[in-house]
Amino acid sequence: MPASHDLHELPQEVERLTPELIALRRDLHRHPELAFREQRTAGIVAQRLQELGLRVRTGVGGTGVVALLVGDLPGPVVAIRADMDALPLTETAETPYRSQTPGAMHACGHDGHTASVLIAAKLLASRRSSLTGSVKFLFQPAEETANGAEAMIRDGAMRDPPVSAILGVHLWNNQPVGTIGLREGAMWASVDELKIVIRGKGGHGAMPHQTIDPVPIAAHIVLALGNLVARETAPLEPIALTIGSIHAGAAFNVIPGEVTMLGTLRTFSMPQRDALVMRIEETVRGICLAMRAEGSVVSEYLTPPVVNDAAITALVRQAALTTVGEHRIVAAQRSMTGDDVAFLHKEAPGCYILIGSGNAAKGFDKPHHHPRFDFDEAALPVAVEVLTRSALACLERRAG
Ligand SMILES: [Zn+2]
Ligand SMILES: [Zn+2]
Repeated sequence: MPASHDLHELPQEVERLTPELIALRRDLHRHPELAFREQRTAGIVAQRLQELGLRVRTGVGGTGVVALLVGDLPGPVVAIRADMDALPLTETAETPYRSQTPGAMHACGHDGHTASVLIAAKLLASRRSSLTGSVKFLFQPAEETANGAEAMIRDGAMRDPPVSAILGVHLWNNQPVGTIGLREGAMWASVDELKIVIRGKGGHGAMPHQTIDPVPIAAHIVLALGNLVARETAPLEPIALTIGSIHAGAAFNVIPGEVTMLGTLRTFSMPQRDALVMRIEETVRGICLAMRAEGSVVSEYLTPPVVNDAAITALVRQAALTTVGEHRIVAAQRSMTGDDVAFLHKEAPGCYILIGSGNAAKGFDKPHHHPRFDFDEAALPVAVEVLTRSALACLERRAG
């Protein structure tokens, strides 16, 4: 069957599978599982992929699942990634499919990603005889804790056979349903977790001269860190540097011996990230030295920036054009949020596709990670179709 004929039928096929797609999403939504505990979800994923006749490996990087669809014709390997984990939140929405597990909720849309990639797998598997290459499906644990993708890579998910392009979607409530958001180059930020400790000398609140008070030192440091963004970074360079937690002392009349601050650094390039981490260390050490205290900085590097490859994004743009039409393709907003899909993009060139899922008229306007987050399910068939078309386009181009 020629590929063009194949794709001509695709919208009708997606439409026929939409009730199954939505039922699957709702089932996953009712039973959310936190990072590295996605046993039920991974079980459903593995079973469905086995039923499609794919070679399935479970327990990859913890609870991850990898499946290979080998086409009948030779060609490269394109990977499609979905994240499976939920967030430690209690859902407060009243929908019939709300979370049945207190303290766990799909508040980021990963239920929709998993369901969409499973249905795309079904559509691609039905085209096995005309596939020029293979499609590898990566269902990863623990995106929200930013260590699931790395665990999968360490466990060989991107090898045997090696992957030449990586695709993935994120539902995005900041974008209206029916749209597809695309961007070449850096789209989402690198993520660092910072821990700053200032050690002084505690004592009586009435006798500060006998102490080395770490509290005003912490205050100086917070302001000086703001200066790294405001005065040392080019005004058009996006940077976020946030101190989200300051802990010291327990009594009104006691000067504490130590202050601990937690924060996060977000950037769009690794050289910039490395340079800022160095300047944060120098700033903390320098201010502490000037004020007789000792300071230390530990920066835990969680993810690199998500960078979309130009050539793959161009192929996805063609697929998006056929799926939703030109006027519904939008420039994906750059955002200082991170996603550990970035580690997969370091292994192979890729494109992370934003699928508009917001619809204020229907109440789908809560931000991701909100306890009432929900998305317009009309976004799901769009995700399925654009992923299927993009995967086929990547195979055909690379085979050609
Ligand atoms: Zn999230
Ligand atoms: Zn997410």
